[in-house]
Amino acid sequence: MEKTIITDKFNRPLRDLRISVIDRCNFRCQYCMPADQFGPDFEFLPRSALLTYEEIERLGKIFVQLGVKKIRLTGGEPLLRRDLPILIEKLAAIEGLSDIGLTTNGVLLPKLAAKLKEAGLKRVNISLDSLDDELFGKINGRGIGTGPVLEGIQAAKDAGLGVKLNMVVKKGLNDQDIIPMAKFCKEKGLELRYIEYMDVGSTNGWKMDDVVTKKEIYEMLKAEFELEPVDPAYFGEVAKHYRYKGTDVNVGFITSVSESFCSSCTRARLSANGQIFTCLFNGNGHDLRNFMRNGASDEQLFGRIAEIWNGRNDRYSDERTAETNKNRKKIEMSYIGG
Ligand code: SAM
Repeated sequence: MEKTIITDKFNRPLRDLRISVIDRCNFRCQYCMPADQFGPDFEFLPRSALLTYEEIERLGKIFVQLGVKKIRLTGGEPLLRRDLPILIEKLAAIEGLSDIGLTTNGVLLPKLAAKLKEAGLKRVNISLDSLDDELFGKINGRGIGTGPVLEGIQAAKDAGLGVKLNMVVKKGLNDQDIIPMAKFCKEKGLELRYIEYMDVGSTNGWKMDDVVTKKEIYEMLKAEFELEPVDPAYFGEVAKHYRYKGTDVNVGFITSVSESFCSSCTRARLSANGQIFTCLFNGNGHDLRNFMRNGASDEQLFGRIAEIWNGRNDRYSDERTAETNKNRKKIEMSYIGG
């Protein structure tokens, strides 16, 4: 397949695509979809508004022609979307795509891991913010203990999927779990990535004071373990990595607040209803679904996406202050996908 390399206003190429396949979730994590704001009456997208798997496949092919090498499926909770392995199979068949990943809370993995692997999925990132059942149940807003997630982790490993864990750290909530999570993952040979609590959306009441920075976490880890830095695997890699000395186990940090990485951000995001967002913190999406449903040709879709990317000048995290956080229209993480 012939590729066209497009760049944005800061010369950043388009390399990664996050696709949210659904805006619903079976958790109500308080930093993402707080239960009081996403209650029983909350209006999620109707089924007809979601991109079909054929539409996602079509767009996926066009994004790959424009330089995308990696696709990650997310949500909401992507495993709630019916027949997800069918979508994976379609995407895995796209020539020129080198990697497909999935971000999940893991609860449905015992049911689905083997089917996902068979369909062509390579890796899963599983979110787990605490090993303490009570606290975890409080964070996920559903009272669900760690058991189902731990079973999901095991199912993914048994199916032969690569597994990494994501832990969002919020001050005063789960910072006491930083070391227990590190010990658990080191022992199991799993890469853990600490994610700085971010000001996505406007429902989580984010404050800069709630952020535990990479530096703080690193100092805590250094007091317990011997760590050595690991070089980035490729341009635009989001996590900063270290290795526990004498092992092949890595630990990573996603530092979007304290050490922003906008200058190497090569990521576009496609919402479940077919809007492209050029930054997690840009509240204005560009519709592709209606354009497509109104008969746009592949060439027209290609041109539209290229035009959007060429015009991209987002660098929100580089410019973040308490003021920019207050005054900006932002999209919810559950809608755009993490
Ligand atoms: N439901 C899936 C899951 O739990 O992984 C996928 C969607 S979730 C939005 C993707 C990731 O975003 C999760 O690891 C979650 O912890 C993270 N996340 C959500 N809100 C966040 C926030 N405000 N700051 C940092 N990370 C956040």
